[in-house]
Amino acid sequence: MGALTGCHGPVAGPENNRSSVRLQIVCTTTLVADLVKQVGGERVQVEALMGPGVDPHKYIAGIGDVRKLHNAHLVFIHGLHLEGKMADLLERQQRHWRVYAVTDSLPRDRLLPAEEDSSLYDPHVWFDILLWAETIDGVRDRLSELDPEGAADYARRAAGYRQVLQQLDAEVRRELERVPPPRRVLITAHDAFRYFGRAYGWQVVGLQGVSTASELGTRQRQRLARLIVESRVPAVFTETSVPPEGLQAVLEDVQRQGGPPVRLISGDDALYSDALGPPDSSTGTYVGMIRHNVRVLVENLAR
Ligand SMILES: [Zn+2]
Repeated sequence: MGALTGCHGPVAGPENNRSSVRLQIVCTTTLVADLVKQVGGERVQVEALMGPGVDPHKYIAGIGDVRKLHNAHLVFIHGLHLEGKMADLLERQQRHWRVYAVTDSLPRDRLLPAEEDSSLYDPHVWFDILLWAETIDGVRDRLSELDPEGAADYARRAAGYRQVLQQLDAEVRRELERVPPPRRVLITAHDAFRYFGRAYGWQVVGLQGVSTASELGTRQRQRLARLIVESRVPAVFTETSVPPEGLQAVLEDVQRQGGPPVRLISGDDALYSDALGPPDSSTGTYVGMIRHNVRVLVENLAR
């Protein structure tokens, strides 16, 4: 650990060339990294500790991560206990690192309680697009504090991105209208879509709770199998950051109970829940991820 304790201050940018100094930002999740990139543009260099497809509930920071966190000008995390296994580390080091949780700016009365523990909030706020848009100004303000010369730039980009998300929300509402109301049932591997359900009027059910770190019991499996048989949904959806075996087992239970055939949507059509796709792919941004998910839902549930 000795090598990590030397410098508590931010890294110095290249000297004598202020225009090329970019803020070194480290984010925990790919979603937070995308948000900061959208607002920060060219003035920031953003790195996500967790890669595409990585489950943030279970992620444990390695020694290389600690070094990156230590050297960053600013650290953005999601907060609301999404980074469950990193909470201790982040709290312990908050004195040394500038850490900001992007969900800190969200009004608590717009958050959902976590189903398994009502003293916590459900962290998956990004599935309500307009709620996610509420995180933009906090990022703009933190960047502007650290880089006042860029403030006008950040303000312009923040306003532009807010507009993009407002348009995306309208587009999503339009697209989802194509699914008949009785079929607006979204069954997934874990409870990441409750904000989606609230915002767009869908029934959502996850096999596992709000965190994938909880144990998966037989009772949960049977409960979900019963629900699938009763609601006659034609498809259930795997997520890129959660192994599909749990849902597969549920569908086997459904078949044993003599239920209707149900498709398991996976592979390229798996939903993006807690992590984006690869950076250069169409699902490498929040907007791309939402469009992918909505397309998959409409294609598999509209008919
Ligand atoms: Zn999750």
